[in-house]
Formats: sequence, C-alpha cells, structure tokens
Amino acid sequence: MNDTRGTRVLVLNSGSSSVKYQLLDMADGSRLSSGIVERIGEGPVTDHSAALKQVADELAAQGLGLDSPELAAVGHRVVHGGTRFTEPTLIYDEVVEAIEKLIPLAPLHNPANVTGIKVARELRPDLPQVAVFDTAFHSTIPEEAARYAIDTATADEHGVRRYGFHGTSHAYVSRATAELLGKDPSEVNVIVLHLGNGASASAVRGGVCVDTSMGLTPLEGLVMGTRSGDIDPAVIFHLARVGGMSTDDIDALLNKRSGLLGLCGDNDMREIARRMGEGDESAQLAFDIYVHRLRKYVGAYTAVLGRVDAIAFTAGVGENSPAVRGAALSGLGALGIEVDAVRNSPGYRWEVPPGGSSARLISGPSSRVAVAVVPTDEELEIATQAYALVQG
Ligand code: AMP
Repeated sequence: MNDTRGTRVLVLNSGSSSVKYQLLDMADGSRLSSGIVERIGEGPVTDHSAALKQVADELAAQGLGLDSPELAAVGHRVVHGGTRFTEPTLIYDEVVEAIEKLIPLAPLHNPANVTGIKVARELRPDLPQVAVFDTAFHSTIPEEAARYAIDTATADEHGVRRYGFHGTSHAYVSRATAELLGKDPSEVNVIVLHLGNGASASAVRGGVCVDTSMGLTPLEGLVMGTRSGDIDPAVIFHLARVGGMSTDDIDALLNKRSGLLGLCGDNDMREIARRMGEGDESAQLAFDIYVHRLRKYVGAYTAVLGRVDAIAFTAGVGENSPAVRGAALSGLGALGIEVDAVRNSPGYRWEVPPGGSSARLISGPSSRVAVAVVPTDEELEIATQAYALVQG
C-alpha cells in the first residue's frame, strides 16, 4: 500500500481550539519534532486550515516538510468512532463522511477532527492518512458492560451505549505494563487508571478491554478536573425542573464546572495538594471524593477481572501524584494490593536507562498485584497503529 518507503509518521490531534502535532520516525520510534498551534479562531490563526498550514510551515522550517518522501502517513486522532470504527482506518471520502455522521455523538470533538483530516488531505492528497479512534480499543467490551439498562429500541435508535474513550492510552499502557512485567499482553490482566484532566479506568483481560468507565461521552465514571463523572441521572431532571436550568446550562455545569474544579475551585492536583498542606478543608474533601471514586472502580474492576496481575497509573495525575496513588490503594492488602511507601514517595529517584522507558513498579515485594506507574504516549501509539496499517 505504501510505495514511498518512508518511515516517518506525522500525528495530528486537532482539538476545538488547538492542533497538536508530532513527527515520529518509526524506524527507531524517535520524535523528530513536536508542537502545538493554539487559540485557533482568536488571533492570526483564523481557522483549522490556517493552523495546519502553520504546522506545515513549522515543519518545513526544520527541514521536515510535508513534501518529504520520508513521510509514510499522517495519523489523525479521532475521538468518536461509534460502533463502526473498531480499528485504525485508512481515510477515503466515505470514511470522512462516516466520521461526520458521528458528530452528534461527539459534538465538541469530531468536527475539529474532521477539519484536520480534510485540510491535511488537501495539503498532501497522495499521502495515506489514517484515522485512529479513541473509542476503538473499547469496542471489545461485551454487551453486558456496554449496554445501559434502558429501553433497547430507544437506545439503538439513538446510538446510546457505552463507547469509552482514551483508548489509545489504555491500549498503550496495558501493553507497556505487560512488558514491564516481562510478559506477553495475552498473559496479564491489568486495571489501567488514566488520570489526567480527563480521567478513565479500564479493565483489560489478556490484552482485550472488557470494561471502561467512560460511556456514551467522556462524562461518565471517575471524578475529573472539571467533569462530574458518575451521578444519579435524575440530578439532571431535578436541576431542570426545580433549578430552572436549560439542557445547555446543565451540560456546561457537568462538563466544565464540576469535578475537582466544582468541588474546591481548582482542577490542578498540584494546587489541591498545596492547599491540603495548608489545612484547606474544601481541597481535602475534593481530594477525598476523587480518591473514593477511584477506589470504587479498582474494586469493581477487580471483581470484573477475577484475577488482577497489575494496576497501572498513567497521565498527569497518575504519573505525578504519589498522594493520589497511595490513597487510592491504601488498605487493600486483603485484595493483594500493597503500595511500597518508599518507591511511591515523591523524592524517590528512578534510574531510567538512556532511551529506556520510565515505566516503574511502586508495589512492595509481597504485593500479589503489581502496581506500576507507566507514562502514556498516545502519539506514539497513534503513529504505531497508522504505520502498521500503511505497511500492510
Ligand atoms: P493530562 O491531562 O494528562 O495532561 O494531566 C493534566 C493534569 O495532571 C493537571 O491538571 C494536574 O492536575 C495533573 N498534574 C500534572 N503534573 C502534576 C504533578 N506534578 N503533581 C500532581 N498532579 C499533576
């Protein structure tokens, strides 16, 4: 399929107001360039077309232009793949139309993803472009976990089911965790806790995802930076009927003014930790609610998997907050989960071999379940999947 013989992949993550890019060389996994074009629509960068042209200019200035024969493919992050897209997909016109049809399921994300794809195809029509979907890794979740217990006809008519998100991260981290344990992914059961500004948990059995905490949208599940995660759906009716709030008001409340931010006024775990150190009660309560939800999911996924070999923490909070990791798993010795206080302490210095992974264990020697910190790399995962597809 790929007759250019290039080994480089440009990864594009087109969000509503920014475009992030990374150029990777798949011959050795090295990162040749990366950057972000922000505030699209606010200043000189008037739209996504201008933003992508700026990306092309920045790369050209580094001698890494889009016209390079070294470029094998462009890998696009696409948030929602619905039930159709369960694999990385080579993009042609009909695929773009199908991603556009999924916009009602991801009104904030898919439009920007589609624009990014269209502009990149205009810039290099001859180059294979691959869509890698955030939902794809979760497409293996069995029906009993994917379906909500609502009227089936209504659910099917409107595509209402659990799709899950952060899939490239859960795929990458679950594999990297197996690697850290020196095992094949098919041999291990892993609970992945992706704790960034958005947060999600997944249960991965032998490399196959069997449950995840995000649902129809990224709103369900864990407490996040600004999203509520799980609530009684009747809260929405109550706010509408008694609070007089509109659907859009409630949408904004639950997605943008809830979670850690709604609870204590800060969505950054560093700031919350600092305030807790000063005895701030609302920051402490926000932390406790966040951790309580996390523990519930660890317990639930332990039951779903039956046997857990590893729990992996990743993303901004998961990789950097010993306090969250320690609190979420404290007192779970009866489940075979023991975090080593020294290895999990903020001052602990890890020796990372040059060019090596900084994935590391924080469990004690007697812990039956390995507890790991595994830095995620969504761009590398997108590039790997896109490259594998164009290599045939
Ligand atoms: P992400 O979405 O993965 O980029 O994660 C962003 C979030 O990670 C921030 O909002 C912070 O809450 C959290 N974070 C980043 N660095 C640290 C740190 N050193 N300690 C605690 N939390 C952190």
